[in-house]
Amino acid sequence: PNRPYIVGNWKMNGTRAQLTEARAIDRGATRHAGVRVAIAPPFTLIAAMAAEVQALTVGGQDCHGEVSGAFTGDVSAVMLKDAGAGFVIVGHSERRAMHGESDAMVRAKAEAALDAGLEVIVCVGESEAERDAGQAEAVVGAQLDASLPRGEGLVPRLTVAYEPVWAIGTGRVAAPADVAAMHAVLRAKLVAIYGEDGAAVKILYGGSVNAGNAAELLAVADVGGALVGGASLTADSFLSIVAAAG
Ligand code: 13P
Repeated sequence: PNRPYIVGNWKMNGTRAQLTEARAIDRGATRHAGVRVAIAPPFTLIAAMAAEVQALTVGGQDCHGEVSGAFTGDVSAVMLKDAGAGFVIVGHSERRAMHGESDAMVRAKAEAALDAGLEVIVCVGESEAERDAGQAEAVVGAQLDASLPRGEGLVPRLTVAYEPVWAIGTGRVAAPADVAAMHAVLRAKLVAIYGEDGAAVKILYGGSVNAGNAAELLAVADVGGALVGGASLTADSFLSIVAAAG
């Protein structure tokens, strides 16, 4: 189905007090049935949030590549699913930069997520230095190629998110023409890897999306939705973005 997909990434924000916002977002989402709305809260809130919402899909922000074992502090995709998650984000640039996650690790996580029955959002994006060097499309294309899961029948549960690192949390949104150019590169890569099925994978834009710029970004060619950080933390701002999507 071709509904725009608006995903909130709460990052390391939120205690049980913020379930109030999730309930308000959930009520708002029921008024925008043409938009698919999701939130990835911290692990600690997944079960409680999933138990309270109807229209929202709840997901994780990361998972381990293995099902279980001696991996202190990690959470597996099977555990996320068991807690009530429907999807997981993998390869966010904050994980890649601060936790040393390689493309191969991201791919293993994506495959573990799909094996567990979750949907998966695979994130890619270039640094400012890479863009300044004219390497953005080459870097991000290669990142996607090496990060995507392989196998039969997984395409319906796959989403890609393009998040330029320099646009995250900075208020500096990517130019619509650059977003269009990058999404075209990613689309070509998806079709090269998955064949015709690759044409149906949603590609989200992320990086300083807010109520004021969402409509313009969502109107860009082949932008299937948004991955939203800061502006997803309150129902007011997040629902304004949802409204802009549909
Ligand atoms: P901001 O919307 O806060 O820039 O964060 C984007 C992001 O990293 C979402 O995953």
